[in-house]
Amino acid sequence: MVIAEIKPFEEIKNLLKKYKKILVAGCGSCVTVCLSGGKKQVELLASALRTARKIESDDVVVGEMVIPRQCEPKFVDMIKDEAGKYEVILSMGCGAGVQEIAERIENIPVLPALNTTFIGMADEQGQYLEVCAACGDCILSMTGGICPVTRCAKSLINGPCGGSQGGLCEVSKDNPCVWQLIYDRLVKLNMLYLLKGISQPKTRSVHPRRMVREDLKLKKESTKGV
Ligand code: SF4
Ligand code: SF4
Repeated sequence: MVIAEIKPFEEIKNLLKKYKKILVAGCGSCVTVCLSGGKKQVELLASALRTARKIESDDVVVGEMVIPRQCEPKFVDMIKDEAGKYEVILSMGCGAGVQEIAERIENIPVLPALNTTFIGMADEQGQYLEVCAACGDCILSMTGGICPVTRCAKSLINGPCGGSQGGLCEVSKDNPCVWQLIYDRLVKLNMLYLLKGISQPKTRSVHPRRMVREDLKLKKESTKGV
């Protein structure tokens, strides 16, 4: 999932200082799971904003909603009428969610309440680990389902650097050497032979990347014979 964290409250408050009608919009997907932008966080942030402005004798209207997925056009379109009642949308979605709203609701500014950090998973309660850099050429089939692109400090894709000691990464002793993890997992799977394979260097992408699925695109109507 996409991992994100809430910006410092003072930063959010500052972003909103000129607005009197604010819609706080959460997202029901990744940021709900990582407890950054779901229903509860929307309620808490909206309430904190009301209180902060009230203390400053500056009353505001703060609306709340959770969009099932902010990164999906049809869900953003569904909130257009409600959003039209506000001067600004404070998105508690990831960066894709903020941009999807900006793309589809042109006449109302959208501001980010979150800092989007990485694609990750929870490795324990309240702790998230980056596990995918979206490299566009997945090699997990060769590495026992553990990503060296992301989890090796040097992004080495054909084995360790040689600096690992006691199973720990030489760059950061807080992290295991991912190649030790990969080796241990392949031993368990009896698939050590996979380490004989060579992964090709990854080409550096020019941003923004784009993926085209011809099978999903709307067919253009033929004009032949018209
Ligand atoms: S190799 Fe790693 S970074 Fe690339 S797609 Fe797979 S998990 Fe993501
Ligand atoms: S010690 Fe392991 S994880 Fe750390 S940089 Fe070297 S190969 Fe990568």
